[in-house]
Amino acid sequence: MSTFKQEPHKLLVIPGPIEVTDEVLYANAYPPVAHTSAEFIPVFGDSIRLTREVLYSKDAQIFIIAGSGTLGWDQIAANLVEAGDSVLVLNSGYFGDSFTECLRAYGAHVDEVRADFGHAVTQAQLEKALSAKKYKLVAFTHVDTSTAVLSDAKMIGETVKRVISDAVCAAASEEIRMDAWNLDVVMTASQKGLGAPPGLSILAASRKAIAVFEKRTSPVAGFYASWKKWIPIMNAYEAGKPMYFATPPVNLVRAYRQSLLEITGGPVSLEERFALHREAAERVKAAATKLGLKMVPASPSVAANGMSAIYLPDGVGVADIVPRMAARGVVVTGGLHKDTKDKYFRIGHMGTTVVNKQRGDIDKVIAVLTDVVNEVKHKQNA
Ligand SMILES: *Cc1c(COP(=O)(O)O)cnc(C)c1O
Repeated sequence: MSTFKQEPHKLLVIPGPIEVTDEVLYANAYPPVAHTSAEFIPVFGDSIRLTREVLYSKDAQIFIIAGSGTLGWDQIAANLVEAGDSVLVLNSGYFGDSFTECLRAYGAHVDEVRADFGHAVTQAQLEKALSAKKYKLVAFTHVDTSTAVLSDAKMIGETVKRVISDAVCAAASEEIRMDAWNLDVVMTASQKGLGAPPGLSILAASRKAIAVFEKRTSPVAGFYASWKKWIPIMNAYEAGKPMYFATPPVNLVRAYRQSLLEITGGPVSLEERFALHREAAERVKAAATKLGLKMVPASPSVAANGMSAIYLPDGVGVADIVPRMAARGVVVTGGLHKDTKDKYFRIGHMGTTVVNKQRGDIDKVIAVLTDVVNEVKHKQNA
């Protein structure tokens, strides 16, 4: 292990996948083991227990399933929605649109509160929607990765009884106190703030959410995503016993466990981790502001800490910035929101990039961003 080094590569600072540590990558390279073996069972069991720790939950039912973050929407819709149920989606961007589309595919009646571009849904808007109609579930995107807009998860959890958070981008980069904030479902994935390669759908459901699931009268609208299949599996592995439904990606689970061990047991506490994300976000935003660039989130109170969405200078396109940064070894990405995707670009600052300062990643991002923006402006003026 001590001699293992990653292949030389460009710095990956998009909002997921992100840079992973040598130890995480090395865990992924461990020879595949039988998913039912004594060797694998504690790897899976630890992953379940440590996921709870990251989300500050005492007893959530954890699901770790091969698939991307998107599978979380399918899990929620297949297991918690029955045809005709009313669901409210607090939409702050592209990922809210997709969540709505998925819920509708399973027969939900979805109403949306749509925030303006760069804004989050406010408490007043939420209360108005809740007083107009009864909803079985309310769903929101914690960090909408298309806009870098941060929703107030605590406020939403305190205002709503049954709340579902899409925290694919937010988990381990923003504070999430699942129990204290009354979040009933938190869905995420391995490749963003959680610092592992892509390929795992990770979901936490409160006891209340599981009770809603158990009370459903129609059959679960899915097979691979069915909690009926997965609850016994997750419980067996946590109890130290193997059980089979569908083969878990043993390598990825090992890599994920390694990242969780670093997040929960490393020299940096969870609280310090969140503070380091805030600090990196401030540095990137300050550097962009100094270059005369504006942020997509309308105010710092709705700006994510794990990523930034930054408007391009007038007359400058995504193609002027992103390839130039890549040529200097820094991989960022363009916009994603359907109306405005050509007007801004996005930088991820999550995980080891912000936690292990000796890597110098944020310094590099800022230096390259500054060079490229100055170069492009210079060209414009020439
Ligand atoms: C990335 C992301 C998703 C989708 O996850 P995939 O792993 O790409 O399927 C969903 N919601 C949010 C908020 C995301 O950032």
